[in-house]
Amino acid sequence: MSVSRRSLLAAGASSVLLGTLPAVEAAQKLKKVPKNIIFCVSDGMAISVPTMADHYMMLLHAKRSYWMELMDRPEAVNGLQETRSLNSLVTDSSAASSAWGGGRHIWNGMLNMFPDLTAMTPLAQYMTSAGVRMGLVTTATMTHATPAGFTVSHQKRDDEAGIAEKYLESNVDVFLGGGNRFFAADKRKDGVDLYAKFRAKGYQTVQNRDDLMAAKGQKLLGIFSESHIPYTIDRDNDPKLAATVPTLAEMSKAALDHLKGSKKGFLLQIEGARIDHAGHGNDFGALLHDQLAFEEAVRVAIEFAMQDKETLVIVTTDHCTGGPALNGDGDEYSDSTPGFMTFKNMKSSYGPLLSTMGAAPTATKVTESVKERLGLDLKAEDAEIIAAGMGGTNPLKPFVLHGGSTSLLGQVLSNYTKVSWTSNNHTADHVIVTAIGPGAEFARGYHTNTQFFDYLLALKGIKAEQPPQMRFDDAARFYERLKGETVAEVEPHWS
Ligand SMILES: [Zn+2]
Repeated sequence: MSVSRRSLLAAGASSVLLGTLPAVEAAQKLKKVPKNIIFCVSDGMAISVPTMADHYMMLLHAKRSYWMELMDRPEAVNGLQETRSLNSLVTDSSAASSAWGGGRHIWNGMLNMFPDLTAMTPLAQYMTSAGVRMGLVTTATMTHATPAGFTVSHQKRDDEAGIAEKYLESNVDVFLGGGNRFFAADKRKDGVDLYAKFRAKGYQTVQNRDDLMAAKGQKLLGIFSESHIPYTIDRDNDPKLAATVPTLAEMSKAALDHLKGSKKGFLLQIEGARIDHAGHGNDFGALLHDQLAFEEAVRVAIEFAMQDKETLVIVTTDHCTGGPALNGDGDEYSDSTPGFMTFKNMKSSYGPLLSTMGAAPTATKVTESVKERLGLDLKAEDAEIIAAGMGGTNPLKPFVLHGGSTSLLGQVLSNYTKVSWTSNNHTADHVIVTAIGPGAEFARGYHTNTQFFDYLLALKGIKAEQPPQMRFDDAARFYERLKGETVAEVEPHWS
């Protein structure tokens, strides 16, 4: 293992020093406790992403982006949180969501479970056992890491078919997202019709936008795509997708309509999942439009909270992805703003662009495709670099942080957009938290990601009893033993 154990242990010690007690005390001291909690996550959002969304809104509409406007309200509280996991300063989404959903730092790739298979009790189980209704809304597959981290303990985040089965036992009231392939009998390897099983448990199941709008059931499972929900930029440029697939804001509104009025309140997680995917892909147009769509969902949450007056809204991210930044370029950096403005002519994410190009395209085909899909006029030498890369001669291949398939595209296009990337991976930055409503004060200052678990439960008067935090050295030993085991060989843990 190439990590410095000493430094990770030091990081572990700092979270012990900050402790979990202050979160519980903070909740107990509140004059007004929120009845409902809405936890909004822009997955993989570097601080440069809401910055760029704000530039977009100012340049195009002469007004602040929604998140910036929110941060500036006198009643809003802003702070920072760490993003690390148990085995790395760079978390993945399952360890990040488990920190919020189980209150412990865990190994990347697992869900509310240590490598010795000791399971944490997930937030959803505590909440629903206490009569708090729960909803999960995402633009990823429904069974992806962030919703799963609030809901299940599971050895491997990638076993989404297994996670879907555990959802059946979770008592979560509303599930809205993508991932039909993990629910449909003709797509699952075991042939089980999970939709039928959910219906047998009293859920209404819906699979398109119109049916979602008309849904009346108290319990609701809505799955709107085969895998992840399409990127906003692709949905907005495809009338058929726009007619059949709901936006994140529409899903959020539907979830609130189904959860509101609960006697013991509710907890709703809203995830803009594809900001992370666009970051991994170094895809500027996809990133920007999904962030704007996420902020529209936050607007829905805040408008509900403002009317309700008993709802705490927390808006944050789990980590940063891709390290995007708008860079200075040209004399006195005069080329940067026009470069950024190229987003105006973009009509697709890299997916449709790559389909238009086809495999091993010529430089001419690259030029035509980039013009058609992204509105950029490529120089001949840039088109040749992309064509060579698509044909298997990627000059970035020796650079470990830029080896992803779309990295070359992202870096070459930065000649035009002036937006470049640090890698195809997550980064270790601390991230912003904005909170508004009763209990928002807790967001002020700096927090470990695990403290939110204690705080959310304490707000509902629920006492958490989790296994103690496993130390890195012990976890590393158990992880070595675990490697190579398949999910099927390990007993499912659902405490
Ligand atoms: Zn990611």
